Amino acid sequence: MSDCIFCKILAGEIPCKKVYEDEDVLAFHDIHPLAQVHFMLIPKKHVESLAHCESVDQAILGKMLLLAPKLAKEQGLENGFRTMINTGRGGGQEVFHLHVHVFGGEKLPHM
Ligand code: 5GP
Repeated sequence: MSDCIFCKILAGEIPCKKVYEDEDVLAFHDIHPLAQVHFMLIPKKHVESLAHCESVDQAILGKMLLLAPKLAKEQGLENGFRTMINTGRGGGQEVFHLHVHVFGGEKLPHM
C-alpha cells in the first residue's frame, strides 16, 4: 500500500525504533508515546484494521497477542501493561494498517 505510513516503515522508507521483527510481525516504538513505554505490533501483511481481518488472519492476530507480553517484559514492564486496538475512525484509528498498541511504565490511568 503505497500511501500507508506503516507499510513505508516496513519497507525501510521511514525509520523506526525497532522492538522486534520476524517474518510476520514488526514491533516499534510509537513516535508520540502516550506512556513511559509505548510500542506497537503490526503485521507485515497490510490489513486495514481489526474489522478487515478474516479467518486467514487468525494466526497473525494470535501471534501478535502472544508476542505482546513477551515484548512488554523485555521492555521492562514487569508489573503489567495495557493493550489497545483502535478500529475505524469511530474507534480513534488514525493509521489504517492494523496495529496493537502496548502501553506501560508509570501507573496508567484507570479506564
Ligand atoms: P491509531 O490512532 O491509529 O491507533 O495509532 C496510530 C499511532 O501511530 C499513533 O499513536 C501515532 O503516534 C503513531 N505513528 C504515526 N506515524 C508514525 C510514524 O511515522 N512512526 C511511528 N513510530 N509512529 C507513528
